[in-house]
Amino acid sequence: MSEQEVKSEGVKPPVLDRRIGDFLELVYDKTDDVTALPQGISFVADEMRIGQIHVAFNGEDILLKEFTPYKKYDTRLLNEPDYEFVHSVVNENDTMIQFWKLDSDVVWDDSDRRNMDDMARFLLLYLGRTKYLYEAKMAAAHDELTGLVNLTGFTQTLSSLMEQGIAQKYTVLYMSAYKFKLISQKYGYDIGNQAMIQIADKLKTMTGEMSSDQVVARLVNDNFAVIVRTSNLEKYLEMLSDVELDLSMNREIIKQRIAFIVGVYHIKESDKNVQMPLEYAMAAYSISKQGEQSNVVYFNEEIHNHFLKEKDIEARMQDALDAGEFVVYYQPKINLDDFCISGAEALVRWNDNGEIIPPMEFIPLFERNGFICNVDFFVLNSVCQAIRKWLDEGLDVVPISVNFSKVHLANENFANEIVQMVKKYRVPTKYIEVEFTESANMEDTTLLTQAVDILKSYGIASSMDDFGTGSSSLSLLTSLPVDVLKIDKSLLEADAVSERERVIVSNIVRMVQDLDINVIMEGVETVEQVNFLKQINCNLVQGFLFDRPLPKEEFEERLQRVKYANPGAQ
Ligand code: C2E
Ligand code: CA
Ligand code: CA
Repeated sequence: MSEQEVKSEGVKPPVLDRRIGDFLELVYDKTDDVTALPQGISFVADEMRIGQIHVAFNGEDILLKEFTPYKKYDTRLLNEPDYEFVHSVVNENDTMIQFWKLDSDVVWDDSDRRNMDDMARFLLLYLGRTKYLYEAKMAAAHDELTGLVNLTGFTQTLSSLMEQGIAQKYTVLYMSAYKFKLISQKYGYDIGNQAMIQIADKLKTMTGEMSSDQVVARLVNDNFAVIVRTSNLEKYLEMLSDVELDLSMNREIIKQRIAFIVGVYHIKESDKNVQMPLEYAMAAYSISKQGEQSNVVYFNEEIHNHFLKEKDIEARMQDALDAGEFVVYYQPKINLDDFCISGAEALVRWNDNGEIIPPMEFIPLFERNGFICNVDFFVLNSVCQAIRKWLDEGLDVVPISVNFSKVHLANENFANEIVQMVKKYRVPTKYIEVEFTESANMEDTTLLTQAVDILKSYGIASSMDDFGTGSSSLSLLTSLPVDVLKIDKSLLEADAVSERERVIVSNIVRMVQDLDINVIMEGVETVEQVNFLKQINCNLVQGFLFDRPLPKEEFEERLQRVKYANPGAQ
């Protein structure tokens, strides 16, 4: 017999009272089982003849305030507790757990008191854990900034409506605040947050006051999902069209009207999948977002077909990329001084079993689902490969520009990834140019500037595409270090160059050249346009007048030919 065993034989191990032991066994680790605690307590209480157990909190604990985990009958109003367990007297969350006898002839001995202490201690743990789980569950279903429910909360409500078989009485909306980003851009981040909280409050009041079964959830940024009773829809949309915010800034109140872009889907009885109604509402929303103004679009047959088509594309895109169905076309850029080819733009096409799908049919979708990032790098890879081959063959290579979507900005490393790919093919960086589109969003502009700087430091030029559309501003150019500005084709009408176009385009060209930035005009289709552009000293052009985007083999011929005929010469 070892020394230790001799010792332990002498000390009596603490024996857990059978009753409290059984109690613990009944309730332990069963926080999710709402019946476990009453069952366990009843068991001990019956044996000890307890009339009531009451938990009282001093703190502002609304969830657990005045909690009665056991009540044989209401002795509380009749007398003082017969035994009291006080958790802490200094802590602001003082907790008292009070025990009442079932009747006056009950006598509690020491072991009963120990049982009550143990049970009280356990109750504290149990309640703490319940509270924690409750809060975690709330947090998981709620958005931190606004306190609205999030996607999880939205889905919970919708699935409960579906379970009750009443979902078809409701309509799902997917919406965003029209031009909300401009508020933070104009007044700064804090005011932007203030505005978001106010919008959320107004939406919550609007939605909840109409009917308590309706819900509004904040998904990401300024995107919301709503469930309304279909009978309330009209009134709801009317309210949405007129939401006014009072933003306080430097003790001043700025009034700001908010309108919404909304996609609407009426839930059908046949809808069983809880994800689909929101997806349908989003499909309608993405159509309404294409409009220039805030508006409301209802899901319909046409949108459904478009939706199914997009689902089909999404299901096939990765295989298509792996199978080499995406191909790169090259559209030459021409210098009007000598009509030589001065560069080209790489443009992607999808060759779907011989049918060439134009990029506008898949790029907007790829921008939404993020797949554009794979496509852009695929295009860059093909371009680097081609340039490497042309250099090895001794061709006169020209710089090739590759389009990179704004979606890349979410990846802070993307500029370095571009550099790595160019290096991998040992392509001199002067042959690669990256085309970006501008953004109305300040945050994006900062990220874009960083990317352009990185590329520049490796000798890769950047251009600003589609200038003259959306919210383009010349002031952006003074801060964004791009090398080339591409004027959007919409600034030149095809048939004739009007006086208005002359004034706008010539001024843009002059100011941009003053900033030492090169200008290229895209979409040049007529001789008249060429003459005008030469006049105003805009010598770089790209357009159908010279060439359409060409398959690689055809473009190689252009590289060999190097000179175009002057289209203006008789
Ligand atoms: P973009 O970057 O503005 O490209 C120029 C578009 O104008 C091309 O359309 C081109 O074919 C077209 N175009 C060229 N010359 C003329 C002309 O004289 N008249 C007219 N009316 N159009 C002309 P495409 O190839 O259909 O591409 C459309 C858009 O799709 C591109 O606009 C670009 O935003 C996007 N895109 C194309 N390829 C890629 C890519 O690889 N990555 C990314 N992110 N976007 C791409
Ligand atoms: Ca482009
Ligand atoms: Ca363009």
